Amino acid sequence: MTWRATVLTLFPEMFPGPLGISLLGKALARNLWSLDVRDIREHGLGKHRTVDDTPAGGGPGMVMRADVACAAIDAARATNSNAPAIYLSPRGRALGQARVRELANGPGALLLCGRFEGLDQRAIDARDLEEISIGDFVLAGGEIAAMALIEAAVRLIPGVLGDAASPAEESFSEGLLEYPQYTRPQSFEGRDIPAPLTNGNHKEIANWRREQAKALTRARRPDLWAHFEKKNS
Ligand code: SAH
Repeated sequence: MTWRATVLTLFPEMFPGPLGISLLGKALARNLWSLDVRDIREHGLGKHRTVDDTPAGGGPGMVMRADVACAAIDAARATNSNAPAIYLSPRGRALGQARVRELANGPGALLLCGRFEGLDQRAIDARDLEEISIGDFVLAGGEIAAMALIEAAVRLIPGVLGDAASPAEESFSEGLLEYPQYTRPQSFEGRDIPAPLTNGNHKEIANWRREQAKALTRARRPDLWAHFEKKNS
C-alpha cells in the first residue's frame, strides 16, 4: 500500500509546492507515496462557501467552523480511513523524529491545516484529532507545518532517498545530533579536514564521529544529552 498524505486546506494551490521537488517529487511521480489535497471550502456554507465565523465570547479574528471542518474530515476519511487524523497546531505535542518514524511506518496521514485564529475546539474533540506542533512559534496557517511533517515522513519511506543518503546515521537517529561533515577541498581558507577523517581507518573514523556527536549534543542540547546518558548508563 502506498503511503498517502491527505491534506485539508483552504489553499490547495500551495501543494505540492516544495514536496514536488527533488527526491520527494521524483518519488511522488514514481508513486512511492501519494498526495491528495482537498479544499476545505468545498464544504463551506451557503452561496459564499463560508468556512469561518467570529469567536464566541468576542476577540479579534475568525475561527474555522466545526461543522465545516468535520464535513471535510469525514469526506476525506473515506479515501484514507486508517491514517491518523492530525490537526497542525501550535498547542499540539512537539513533532519529533520518533513520531515521524511511526507515521512513516503507517498508512499515511490525514492533515487538517488551520487558518485564522484556529479551529473550533469541538471539531478537535468530536473527531479526536491528534494535535501536532512543529515548534514553539506561530505560523499563519497549518500548510507549511503539514509540508514539514510530510517531508520528514516521506524521506524515510524505503526507496525515496535511494542510495544517495541514509537516514540510519543522521541527527536524532540514536538520540544524538549528527557529527560534522566535510568534503573537498582538503584545505579551505586555512582550515583542514580533521585528520582522523583522512587516514582511511574506519574504526578510528567511527570513533571520532561518535565523540563529535556526543560533544555537540552535550553542548547544544542538554535535553537530548540527559536522555541519551540515561539510556546508555
Ligand atoms: N490562535 C492560535 C494560532 C493560530 S495560527 C493559537 O494561539 O494557538 C493559524 C493556524 O496555523 C493554526 O490553526 C495551525 O493550523 C497553524 N499553525 C500555526 N503555528 C503552528 C505550529 N507551530 N505548528 C503547527 N501548526 C501551526
